[in-house]
Amino acid sequence: MIASVKGTRDLLPPETRVWNRVEAVAREVFALHAFDEIRTPVLESTDLFVRTVGESTDIVHKEMYTFTDRGGRSVTLRPENTAGVARAYVEHGLAQGGGARKLYYIGPQFRYERPQKGRYREFRQIGAEVLGAADPATDAEVLGMLFDFLARLGFTGLSVALNSVGTDVCRGAYVEALRAYFSNHADRMGDDDRRRLEQNPLRVLDTKDPAVKAIVDEAPRMLDFLDAESAAHHEELLVLLDAAGIPYRIEPRLVRGLDYYTRTVFEVTAGGLGAQDALLGGGRYDRLVSDLGGPKTAGIGFAIGEDRLVDVLPPAFRDEAARAGSTVALVPLDRSDRAAAMELARALRAAGIAVDLDPAGKGPGAGLKGAERRGLSVAVLLGGREREAGTVVVKNLASRTQETVPVGRLAEFLKGS
Ligand code: AMP
Repeated sequence: MIASVKGTRDLLPPETRVWNRVEAVAREVFALHAFDEIRTPVLESTDLFVRTVGESTDIVHKEMYTFTDRGGRSVTLRPENTAGVARAYVEHGLAQGGGARKLYYIGPQFRYERPQKGRYREFRQIGAEVLGAADPATDAEVLGMLFDFLARLGFTGLSVALNSVGTDVCRGAYVEALRAYFSNHADRMGDDDRRRLEQNPLRVLDTKDPAVKAIVDEAPRMLDFLDAESAAHHEELLVLLDAAGIPYRIEPRLVRGLDYYTRTVFEVTAGGLGAQDALLGGGRYDRLVSDLGGPKTAGIGFAIGEDRLVDVLPPAFRDEAARAGSTVALVPLDRSDRAAAMELARALRAAGIAVDLDPAGKGPGAGLKGAERRGLSVAVLLGGREREAGTVVVKNLASRTQETVPVGRLAEFLKGS
């Protein structure tokens, strides 16, 4: 037997119903905020991620699915989607006409991580990006949209962890302060964190080592190093979030593990996942587009880990989404009733009723048992006697009641019940 590849998984029904509902709500909320969908390739040039996500990050350093294709190109299964969106923005001149471009995506991402609960090698993200908008009002709107989305899934009590990572203007001095601070504690760091310290001290702030986390808690704060404009951006964002009633807390050592962020960075963590396991992360990336050869373009976005989101969904939303819905089982009682059943199924579907047609014609017992096994709650029985009378028997499988209904009134009856 050939099993699925380690770190990947099949999403099966009824779970796929839940995923589809979550995605439908995302599409609806994003459209209400004037975002359009973009679909970029799963496969990108390796250079795209090396230049944007950054060589010193775990993602590029050790998590990418990179290989040489038959034409000798180095390609990578995308580990995240922002770089691809920015590439497409430059490649297709989406900046033309000025104004902000608001784009969202839903799709699989790949990282060669150690598989564990909630962490996969193929996982899915729902994300959104605004390109060409530098004002903190855009940061606030993006966060507002996120809260709107999460609220519609039934989440309550979520709050944003927020920080500013400044810009090139001020980050140099901060990185040097970090380097000096962490160098004093290097003897308590493992190889991974020591490599990070050497390559980019900011990355030590993302450490997964509990001992080093304690050191991080006392490290210098980026907020104390912000240049005047970045500080003003941060302050203005807080005012706007207060005005919008969006709860947040300042997390002074939050940097998020990618190199391209500037100024605003944020995460939302959900209960029951563990502190490491943010539900989503995002931030501003005002240099990303120009780094890719495009015009100077400010940007901000977020990526929600859909696997985790589905994992911690409020039960009410999950149950509602997982239900088989109003699908009706149509059971021909005998093989000779199958043609009439097919015709009736077509008529019901034309009236907008979902029909699960039992193809067997093996009598009511087998037909009803099958319908129950598939989680359906209403069955329509069609036999020779009923056909002659122009009726069917509608059976409620939950309450065990039944009623004889004229075929001509069936659609109306089923919609009403
Ligand atoms: P990032 O792209 O690293 O900013 O991550 C954004 C979100 O994607 C995280 O908050 C997680 O919810 C999710 N995520 C990242 N890596 C994985 C993974 N290996 N498996 C499942 N979800 C992930």
